[in-house]
Amino acid sequence: MNARPTSESVPAEQVFDWLDAEAARRAEAGLTRKLRPRGASTAELDLAGNDYLGLARDKRVAGAAAAATLRWGTGSTGSRLVTGSTELHAELEHELARFCGVQAALVFSSGFLANVAAVTALSGAESAIVTDKYIHASLIEGCRLSRSDVAAVAHADPAAVGHALATRRKARALVVTDSVFSVDGDLAPLTELSAVSREHGAALLVDDAHGFGVLGEGGRGAVHAAGLSAEPDVVTTITLSKALGAQGGAVLGPRRVIRHLVETARSFIFDTGLAPASAAAAVAALGVLKTEPHLPAKVLASATRLADLLREEGFAVSAPRSAVISVRTPSASGAVGWAERCAEGGIRVGCFRPPSVPDGVSRLRLTVHAGLTESDVDTAVKVISEAAPPGATS
Ligand code: PMP
Repeated sequence: MNARPTSESVPAEQVFDWLDAEAARRAEAGLTRKLRPRGASTAELDLAGNDYLGLARDKRVAGAAAAATLRWGTGSTGSRLVTGSTELHAELEHELARFCGVQAALVFSSGFLANVAAVTALSGAESAIVTDKYIHASLIEGCRLSRSDVAAVAHADPAAVGHALATRRKARALVVTDSVFSVDGDLAPLTELSAVSREHGAALLVDDAHGFGVLGEGGRGAVHAAGLSAEPDVVTTITLSKALGAQGGAVLGPRRVIRHLVETARSFIFDTGLAPASAAAAVAALGVLKTEPHLPAKVLASATRLADLLREEGFAVSAPRSAVISVRTPSASGAVGWAERCAEGGIRVGCFRPPSVPDGVSRLRLTVHAGLTESDVDTAVKVISEAAPPGATS
């Protein structure tokens, strides 16, 4: 008889056998993910990390983190509403709000959790959400948890957003987008998205994770650059773990939005507060950004040089609008091999392939940072070109 085994009939050591089958399928498709621990000091050229301003190892920033650890302890000791709020958290929130020209800010232990909080707290079963179809996974997670009607519409398409808002079945609505899309580094049409959201009575939530510290006046971000940061119907999220070189995230916006998050956002209320070291590092990094407002321009200059030189070599390169550029590859396994050969040549690059990319197109993802010299960029182009798989150039 071919009876389906009951749960009792599966020996304990076979309970996870299905994981091996899935792993084998991924391996066959060349999609196995690898953790590659890096050394503390390395000669490798970093074109994969998000430390856009090179502040993660800046002595002023790391020193502030070390001092905060000695003063406040390694952990924040509790959730923000219990013992996890220190003077450092209050100072960071005050400084972020002032820097970005918003009424208030709230910091989280990660950008991912800030996004989940902002989406869920500003939507709900009585809301519609309209998103760009390429928003970050953390925003998608928020949408899934929100119990809202969710419509994911064409990429960077305000008309599609307008249509979805006009045909929604719920009175309240939230439009959600990244400012800089994390795969190709392209920009959302924020001005148009704000206008269409307002026309339909919807709030606009922008994830400025890759824009903050890189775009806008002195690195104030894409939302500030679009003149939207102080608008009453716009909310911004950022991460402290990219341009600020620290760890954590924040929501920026009208005071009543921040108050609502404190009262209702589960990833704020039930999560241990940001570590003191991270809060202090972010405050110090913000200080550096204020005293060295030219840093973001260096990032964009490097991105432009890298993109131009790679395009000259015949690669299909995204437009350099941020610290992120991508190079299209003929196949997923081609992308993985290309990235591995770059690493062997001393250049660490990112590799995005399905299922991390929703459009099924594999890419090398290159990020630049303020510390790169022109000769670093030239070296990177040489190594990337020599490591390219057949069919990568047109
Ligand atoms: N949003 C975007 C667009 C991101 O790229 C990331 C980080 N990968 C996040 C949010 C999450 O931020 P964090 O790493 O601080 O959790």
